[in-house]
Amino acid sequence: MVNHRSISSDNLSRSKGQNKSTHKSPIVVDNKPGKNCFPGFLPVISYQLIIKLSQESMIKVGRLGEFHFPAGWYIYTGSARRNVSARIKRHSSKVKKLRWHIDYLLASPYSEIVEIKKSLIPECELNQGTPGIVIIKGFGASDCKNKCKSHLKYLGTPWR
Ligand SMILES: [Zn+2]
Repeated sequence: MVNHRSISSDNLSRSKGQNKSTHKSPIVVDNKPGKNCFPGFLPVISYQLIIKLSQESMIKVGRLGEFHFPAGWYIYTGSARRNVSARIKRHSSKVKKLRWHIDYLLASPYSEIVEIKKSLIPECELNQGTPGIVIIKGFGASDCKNKCKSHLKYLGTPWR
């Protein structure tokens, strides 16, 4: 359990030569993903990218195939077991080896990430609670065990 007594009272008790047996080193709370986290305090594990595609495009999505992407806004839900920030930074870079389905959409000269949200909600739960239309079955859902049809949803063209 966490000792909530303030440092000053600890110092005071030590200066009196008491309380030595119950004194514990302070717990260092490092909530950076991938580090030891405070028990019960979950690290950020999921993220959503709001993506704007300014022109309709035919995009080859790796082995999934080539698909027609209507212009508009998309929302992609993903997760990283460790270091979500590094994953998001990778998504934001246009120059990289294409690995995940989302990489192919983000490599398009017409796509841009307009907003990034981080969440503590598990990715499939977050995805299933997100509005939008599934236009490419299986996108980003190769290793999904929760029956999401796709981890990419189309939100339409709100700017028109
Ligand atoms: Zn899923």
